Amino acid sequence: MIEKVLIANRGEIAVRVARTCREMGIGTVAVYSDLDREALHVRLADEAYALGGQTAAESYLNTEAILAAIERSGADAVHPGYGFFSENTDFARAITSQGVTFIGPPPGAIEVMGDKISSRLAAERAGVSGVPGRSEPVQDPSEVVAFGESAGWPVAIKAAYGGGGRGMKVVRGAPEAAEAMESAQREAQAYFGRPEIYLEKYLDWPRHIEMQVMADSHGNVLWLGERDCSSQRRHQKLIEESPAPDFPDEIRQAMGEAAVKVARACGYQNAGTVEFLYQDGGFYFLEMNTRLQVEHPVTELVTGLDLVEWQIRVASGERLGFTQEDVRRDGHSIEVRLNAEDPAGGRFLPSPGTITTFRPPGGPGVRLDAGYEAGDTVSQFYDNLIAKLVVWGPDREAARRRMLRALGEMEITGVATTVPADIAILSHEDFVAARHSTRWVEDSLDPSTFDAPQAGSAPCESPRGQGQPDDIGPVERVMTEVTAEVNGKRFGVKLWMPQSEALQAPSTRSRVASRSKSSGSTPMAAGSGSGTVTVPMQGTIVKVLVNVGDRVETGDTVCILEAMKMENALCAEKSGSVKEIKVSPGAAVGPGDVVAVIE
Ligand code: ADP
Repeated sequence: MIEKVLIANRGEIAVRVARTCREMGIGTVAVYSDLDREALHVRLADEAYALGGQTAAESYLNTEAILAAIERSGADAVHPGYGFFSENTDFARAITSQGVTFIGPPPGAIEVMGDKISSRLAAERAGVSGVPGRSEPVQDPSEVVAFGESAGWPVAIKAAYGGGGRGMKVVRGAPEAAEAMESAQREAQAYFGRPEIYLEKYLDWPRHIEMQVMADSHGNVLWLGERDCSSQRRHQKLIEESPAPDFPDEIRQAMGEAAVKVARACGYQNAGTVEFLYQDGGFYFLEMNTRLQVEHPVTELVTGLDLVEWQIRVASGERLGFTQEDVRRDGHSIEVRLNAEDPAGGRFLPSPGTITTFRPPGGPGVRLDAGYEAGDTVSQFYDNLIAKLVVWGPDREAARRRMLRALGEMEITGVATTVPADIAILSHEDFVAARHSTRWVEDSLDPSTFDAPQAGSAPCESPRGQGQPDDIGPVERVMTEVTAEVNGKRFGVKLWMPQSEALQAPSTRSRVASRSKSSGSTPMAAGSGSGTVTVPMQGTIVKVLVNVGDRVETGDTVCILEAMKMENALCAEKSGSVKEIKVSPGAAVGPGDVVAVIE
């Protein structure tokens, strides 16, 4: 049995995994970047080791540093969470070659599902159809035209190595094909380091429904139920629920069986998710995610299973202790992702900063998986997911009302969050009637409804009238944690200090909310329709896609800005030729900085 798990991740998922480990009596080892020395996942673990660096590449994607932490801690297993190294075969092999258990699928299964073309082929071999398309790379725009003419427009050009909702271009007719293909290839290379693209029919009103599977090393593969993740922006999920509304049980059964076939076809073990698009009563394989998903808690709340516990148990060689008939799904669960993003005007701009107030909701049927507390900083270098709010109710309407109630209690200040958009979605009659699709938030929802003040985000005044943030205790009770790092191992020392001294002490994290920022709303892109391309938010330029003298059209991507692990295209706002480029890859930029001039 596994005794000590190193969690090779950060934020809410590292916290989530640590919690189950503790319940199972398993030791937890955190790793952290320089920016995360005081992060919640570090504070909650039994031991913590420094990886060094700030960016993901320098820290959570630094195999050498993680291997060193495994050796020093004596961890006998690694949980990769999601993102980072969770679907990286080299990392999985590096772990297992040290005799350490990788809590995830075998590297061979990750490999088969590692790109969208090879996973489509694997699903087809298992008898499960993908979205109508071509399971091979396309080389020439004439192939896009031929496919569009036979399958019907629009066509989606997709990056084979795409992910995170990026790497897809929609082509509405033959005249757009050549340019769309060229820009898809260029962006695929820039974002994912691989230019391969392929074609799918672009479904016009699909729902995203995915199936959770769990497999042990003894040949047992079960499906645990579906999640509807159709509320999206930029092809990224905002709200997920289980069961999918208005989803006939015979289709659920067929989708579950299809997911099991796909998992068996790649020799799958551990927790995995088979994603489908569902339209007009038919479902089509999209991809398989060979890891725990962000939205796994909705499955946990309706099945009563702890998926992390079962991940650890099957990774230890245990059999699944239940059969398909034993899987119960009761009631309805909804999850809302609380991202540090400003949804105003439907723009969903990243909003890094320090969280000044973080007041979680409570009451019946409410679960909060958070990676941050008040006083913590959401860094531009990582994913901007602050927390997931998950509710359970006896039916969908009860769960929906409960979620709205919980969102109303929730208070986050210091950074902008997606909460106003979540409230607008959950309150809309289309969502209530399950008439929404993956395009609904962007195409049909009125973005001005996202500008409403955030629920509960009243000014930071103390209800007790003390003029202090609510979570400051009396002065004599301020507890301060002083961090000491000895040879890269973190030690936390607790001190009780007068508040004034605690706030001044270097390298401390007191239980006092910082008041450095009162509003996290991100400035907007300037220069609309002008020849200057400017930066809307703090970040790093990762790619410059044009050269001086190039001709660009309105909407063409000029540079890619990475902020909070999200890559944002900075686009030309007028057509013309590039007169000047003021940045190069690696440049740190801030709001309003000019990156290029077009004349
Ligand atoms: P990623 O790996 O980036 O998550 P996916 O292929 O899983 O990419 O698709 C993400 C989302 O993009 C889907 O949930 C859906 O909203 C949209 N999408 C992908 N393929 C299609 C398609 N062929 N037609 C319509 N929408 C699609």
